[in-house]
Amino acid sequence: MSQDINIIPLNIVFSIIKLINFKMCYNEDGDDMDKNKELILDVLKKLDKSSFRSSFHLKQRDLLYIEEKGLDEIKKHAYDFINTRLAPKAISNDGKQTPMRGHPVFIAQHATATCCRGCLYKWHHISKDKALSDNEVNYVVSIIMTWIKKEVKKNNSNRN
Ligand SMILES: [Zn+2]
Repeated sequence: MSQDINIIPLNIVFSIIKLINFKMCYNEDGDDMDKNKELILDVLKKLDKSSFRSSFHLKQRDLLYIEEKGLDEIKKHAYDFINTRLAPKAISNDGKQTPMRGHPVFIAQHATATCCRGCLYKWHHISKDKALSDNEVNYVVSIIMTWIKKEVKKNNSNRN
């Protein structure tokens, strides 16, 4: 009888452990997108060779803004911008929807050729005549955040 009582809570404990493991894996995927990582590093290398793309850098005010908001918040902004300005199937002002200043994500978009559907097609081979899938949105945000983190890191090592 006392064993029966023990079995039930143990099962629950195992279920909770499984759930926690699942959530941790899920979050990790969402953060760094391992499956897109190699692709992103490859594209970033190519972008580095473009004199136009590699001319974009974060300015002091952008870096201060990132420090103030934190990278998690910047990532939320990135999702917001991409979902509203880049992901829809039809964008009336495509090619002109991303300002050259005003937010670090905008600068990152020009640097990573995720500024408009034309550049997204040319550099990332994502076709124009459709809405972006969730994975494509994650990919775009990942490349933007990877570029931003590189800029922040470069700035920090310059400061030291
Ligand atoms: Zn563009």
